[in-house]
Amino acid sequence: MKCIFCQITAHKIPADVIFENERLMVVYDINPKAKSHLLIFPKAHLSDSIDDLKDEKILEEVFAVARQLAKQYGIHKTGYRIITNHGKDAGQTVSHLHFHLLGGERLSD
Ligand code: AMP
Repeated sequence: MKCIFCQITAHKIPADVIFENERLMVVYDINPKAKSHLLIFPKAHLSDSIDDLKDEKILEEVFAVARQLAKQYGIHKTGYRIITNHGKDAGQTVSHLHFHLLGGERLSD
């Protein structure tokens, strides 16, 4: 199993898991780019990125969980950003669909 996020889901490598249900996992990013930097990803390897996602149903839950966590972390009033990267120009480093939830400070433009 090469995919890092699949290994996290399978508890083969440790991660700071802050939310988990049957379909999704949320962990702290190991290399945070903001005071609050969470990664939300489907447990199943549905796709390498948003570009090859076949069934978009999961997106509804991703955004619902992101909003819920933004409230939980108290960043919903100050602001936050949800990002997904696809490909090298976007700087994607992990080929497993995932979303960054960033906030807790003024983010760069
Ligand atoms: P991306 O650049 O959009 O592919 O994002 C991948 C993110 O995964 C990066 O921000 C990394 O810091 C993060 N990352 C890589 N390995 C781990 C890990 N083992 N636990 C938590 N975050 C990780």
